[in-house]
Amino acid sequence: MKPSRTISTTSSFSTRVELFFKNPDDLKDRIRFLQSEGISRFNIVNKDKKDTMNVWIDSIREVYPESNICAHYSLKYNKVPRKGIAEQRDPFLKDLEEDYCNADEILLISGSGKKTTQWNTIEALKAVQDIKSTSAESSSKKTKPKISVAYNPYFPSSSDQEEENRRLEEKFATGCVSKIYLQFGTDLNSLKNGIEFCYSKAKELNYDDISIAGSLFLPTKQLIAQQKFRPWNGVFLSQEFLSGPEHATAIVSEMIKIYMKNNIELLWEAPGIRTEKDMGMVHDIMERAVGSKDDEITGNKETVSSSTTGTSNSDIDISATKRPKLMINNARSSLEKKNIIRSDDPCLLIFGTHDVRLQDNKAVEEATRRHKIVLPVFLWTKEDSDGMWSAKGAIAVCLQDALYSLETSLQSFDLHLECRLCTNTDDGPEHGVTEIRDLIDKVGAKAVFWNKEFTPEGRKRGDFRKDFLIKRGVQVYETQSSLLYDPDKIELSSDFDGGHFATLMPFLNNCRKNFGPPPRPTPRVDTFRLLEETSLPTYTDSISTSTVNDLNIVKVTGNHKWDEPIRKRFPMSEKAANDAMEVFARNGMKKYEMERSRADQDGATSQLSPHLRIGTLSPNQLYWRIEDSGLSPKTLARRLIWRDLAYYQLSVFPDMRTRCIRSHYEDMEWVDGPDEEERRFHAWKTGMTGFPIVDAGMRELYATGWMTQSIRMVVASFLVEYLRVNWTKGCEWFHYTLVDADSAINAMMWQNAGRSGIDQWNFILSPTTASQDSTGAYTQRWVPELADLPTSALIHRPWEGSIDVLLQAKVVLGRTYPHRIVTDLKAERQLSVDSTLSMRRKSQEYNDSRGYDLIQLPNGSKTIVFTKKEYRINENGGLLKNDPTSVRRKKTTRRKRK
Ligand SMILES: Cc1cc2nc3c(=O)[nH]c(=O)nc-3n(C[C@H](O)[C@H](O)[C@H](O)COP(=O)(O)OP(=O)(O)OC[C@H]3O[C@@H](n4cnc5c(N)ncnc54)[C@H](O)[C@@H]3O)c2cc1C
Repeated sequence: MKPSRTISTTSSFSTRVELFFKNPDDLKDRIRFLQSEGISRFNIVNKDKKDTMNVWIDSIREVYPESNICAHYSLKYNKVPRKGIAEQRDPFLKDLEEDYCNADEILLISGSGKKTTQWNTIEALKAVQDIKSTSAESSSKKTKPKISVAYNPYFPSSSDQEEENRRLEEKFATGCVSKIYLQFGTDLNSLKNGIEFCYSKAKELNYDDISIAGSLFLPTKQLIAQQKFRPWNGVFLSQEFLSGPEHATAIVSEMIKIYMKNNIELLWEAPGIRTEKDMGMVHDIMERAVGSKDDEITGNKETVSSSTTGTSNSDIDISATKRPKLMINNARSSLEKKNIIRSDDPCLLIFGTHDVRLQDNKAVEEATRRHKIVLPVFLWTKEDSDGMWSAKGAIAVCLQDALYSLETSLQSFDLHLECRLCTNTDDGPEHGVTEIRDLIDKVGAKAVFWNKEFTPEGRKRGDFRKDFLIKRGVQVYETQSSLLYDPDKIELSSDFDGGHFATLMPFLNNCRKNFGPPPRPTPRVDTFRLLEETSLPTYTDSISTSTVNDLNIVKVTGNHKWDEPIRKRFPMSEKAANDAMEVFARNGMKKYEMERSRADQDGATSQLSPHLRIGTLSPNQLYWRIEDSGLSPKTLARRLIWRDLAYYQLSVFPDMRTRCIRSHYEDMEWVDGPDEEERRFHAWKTGMTGFPIVDAGMRELYATGWMTQSIRMVVASFLVEYLRVNWTKGCEWFHYTLVDADSAINAMMWQNAGRSGIDQWNFILSPTTASQDSTGAYTQRWVPELADLPTSALIHRPWEGSIDVLLQAKVVLGRTYPHRIVTDLKAERQLSVDSTLSMRRKSQEYNDSRGYDLIQLPNGSKTIVFTKKEYRINENGGLLKNDPTSVRRKKTTRRKRK
């Protein structure tokens, strides 16, 4: 006997173990072992029709007569083949009577997958009910086993969950359910909802004595590997759980807390607890769950560095290498391990428009780790709502919905998101400081937390608020949580460093070399635990308590409900983001390398950009999901580095959203005359250029706020190269219409399309071959007036169709579908090239000896950037592309590289 280690002394909650054994002797050994560990409740699973349940039950009783036994009955394995409900009933009742009568409980299991309307748990329960009501006399002779049923609260789809809930209600309605077994899963919010549902339904249907048991997986490496590579049907596990024992342990211990809080019996699922080592693991997890309840938070101080000011302004940097690792045997979470005592002083936690989430959010973590009393705040300033690069247009819909969801998530922790509409004074922008002052005064806050925002206006706002707060003696904690790496910590060489300045490879290599891989996301359970232990300031009742609704972020006037298709296509919440990531990981990641440019293939890319932009998903979550997938889709992981690169470029060139990075390109001449420019631009915006692939993209954009990257490139290239409209107009329109409108990425991409960026595009995408839509399905969808054209070639080039063919497809060019806005693409493109060359010839000071563009860096130095061959000129303005010396040079370079 080891009384100090028994489960019952660790917690007053009863624990069951699902048994795993080879034969009755083996079973008896297990029972002896578990009995010595203080466990008296067992479940025996039913995996085969030939299982000898009565023999097993007797074997357990032989060793441990007073134990409590729940025997599972699988309706699937015990089914009589090809027989209807009536024929199934008798053998079922006979089995219960003969083989299960010595059990304390019988758990009816129907098996995962689609439920049959024929023989299922509900029919079985009805049969039990009939017997109960007709044989009241015999049942009084001996206490019959209790009947238990299973319930899964973790279905990712709400319709599947509703169906599961409805089934549980029907089971209740039979009147003979004594207990519910919750299946295992990892979404703790779903678990909480499920528990609430069970208890409230039971109450509603007068089940006063219902009991619940909750499944647990022992998070061993083997179990995780098994679930990763051969997942069980109907078991929904997050990537976080599957990423390894440390995260899985944290999740399981958090589940135990929830079970305990809700008076739920614990069931360790098979293979269960078989050895001393397993038992040790269970003790550690139990201690972690029980012991952490009221603990003070302690840990390791070096992981947090104070800023150089050394006073109230602290710049928090928790780098990947410094982050303490959570070990299985550690009863403390990674967040708790830092040596910080939580203050009783209230603080403000300000959410921005790039970090609308709780998971893996550094500001949330820091605020809740340092303070027990936190007021979450969202400030909607004039600049946020009306500024040129603010979250207006389509993205406002995503922001608003994400905020609604954040508001609800915070409520589940009894926290309130205080929303304030901020006005400016006559003296100019105030960046919300009046509201901040008001809240600080009312709640007595001593510190304010937020994540940095790396746009010029975000930086300005942050600096303004910081100055104001520091002057008032309030501590400021700024963290970064929207990018993989902090752009302010990156310094690139202006020399050729494996690539030109601020291009992808030097940037990636620099980040890797200096900071290692991006930090893994913080386990959700760690954040949630702190949130659970956080409360609102008591003053909250006296403050205005405005909600997201009061901010009026999306302004829909008139009858055109333009926001609805966006809402439908992009539901915005952390759960929606995680679900979308999982769906993509399962179905899309494998195909990404091959199919990412296909607009006619569903799910060819992740469509996670609005989530990454608004912050319902952290880039680290996606980065590590990609890395952990084992599929190594390199291009996909690099896309996230492109995202960081855009912010780096914006930090070096803060006016790149409106001004050319290659400053001399400002002098480029575009299409002649404002009227012609407006005619072309209008046709492009409205999807009426007469080039179907362009029109399809622009219509999809306007209707739903999204286009895949390859189509964005087609339409951008078309506007700049063939319509000869200044890229800044396209950039602005995209910002207004995109659901993922990100002023850094958008500007970087448009600069590159417009030739004036760091990375001039070395290709022109044809608007007539449309390889992105080789089946034509994409264009058919968005340009339905061409849908009946017989071939995909004609769909992309309707002007090549004969009158008869067009008429048959009900297409009349100029009437049902516009004529092409420009007809001679070659001539238009030549005008573009000429205009670029002419501008370059006038700016020789920005032309290097090899004909490459030079750009000016903020420190005054110049650096070379990639320049397309057709634009390379010598010092006299002559073209270098046919210059034999340039060919010679290239060959030499190649030889050298070898
Ligand atoms: C002219 C033009 C304008 C663009 N404007 C934006 C914009 O405002 N906001 C925006 O998020 N993306 C923009 N992009 C980049 C890219 O098209 C989108 O990020 C991508 O199409 C989003 O779809 P996805 O989530 O399925 O991407 P995936 O291919 O699944 O990529 C995953 C994530 O990586 C990031 N990413 C992908 N491509 C890029 C890229 N080229 N640069 C930086 N990050 C990238 C995005 O966050 C994306 O969600 C633009 C591209 C072009 C050509």
